[in-house]
Amino acid sequence: MTSRTGRLAPSPTGHLHLGHARSFLLAYWQARSPHAKASGARLLLRMEDLDLERVKPGALEATLEDLRWLGLEWDGEPWIQSEHRAAIDEAALELLADGRAYPCVCTRREIEEAASAPQAGMASGRYPGTCRGRWRTLEEARAETGREPALRLCVPPGSLRLHDDFRGDFEVDVDAEVGDFPIRTRSGAPAYQLAVVIDDARMGVEEVVRGDDLLSSAARQYLLQQALGLPHPRWWHVPLVCDEHGHRLAKRTDALSLRELARRGVTRAEVLQWVARVSGQVLDAGLCCPDFDMRRVPREPVLCRSTDWPANR
Ligand code: GLU
Repeated sequence: MTSRTGRLAPSPTGHLHLGHARSFLLAYWQARSPHAKASGARLLLRMEDLDLERVKPGALEATLEDLRWLGLEWDGEPWIQSEHRAAIDEAALELLADGRAYPCVCTRREIEEAASAPQAGMASGRYPGTCRGRWRTLEEARAETGREPALRLCVPPGSLRLHDDFRGDFEVDVDAEVGDFPIRTRSGAPAYQLAVVIDDARMGVEEVVRGDDLLSSAARQYLLQQALGLPHPRWWHVPLVCDEHGHRLAKRTDALSLRELARRGVTRAEVLQWVARVSGQVLDAGLCCPDFDMRRVPREPVLCRSTDWPANR
């Protein structure tokens, strides 16, 4: 039997809500099932705190508290992404040095203008490749334009056929959908896609269970793994929790945050029972999910209204 390493990867940008609870519990139950445990599976925690504009003071601690309130535990110390940034920056420069990435000085507005007149067969919003092939180094781009460049990956043309253990095979044409995508922003911050890929590899992550809003990111991450010669983890992209209007729960609408529910008198056991029920699983008396089976998770998004929960107790 092989041991597997999974991870929880919250962005500490607000309070966790029922959508996070559901994805994290699925990752947790999968890694902590008796079968997984017997084979030595591990579950790591990574705090994705690189987007400093969105990470408010105290948010990291608040996220840890929410995870603990749910009863989640993980192996080892949390991996704080911002403490490992040097390796991500290095990888971006390595891709540039190899000619797999290039400097791009386009502003957001220039990209929007260019993208509003898409080429045939290409999605609107796609980066049209304006700066591809213009400069080999950051210095050349700076010297010629006086602008601080971003870095973009050269995306090969054509569709990728990929496999997700929850969704099955799927096809993505990264070139037609987004084009050459950023791996480092113009302000020098590593892009989310690159940060995930580098940290998953450095942490030894082999299994990724997360919301299916990240399915299109998965293809970009696959291309980065290929470009850097890194292994591809197995994926399970699970449907999201949506409100009555079909919108995914968002951190900015706090109505179904775990804190708000707790304030209304909802217990941890009730949240776990709800997640288990909408995910086709059964909890035992100790609120564990010993027979966890990802195949029983329904394929549709989960509907959840604020009014499904008590207003106050
Ligand atoms: N931090 C990301 C989020 O909260 C998840 C990244 C990932 O699982 O790859 O949406």
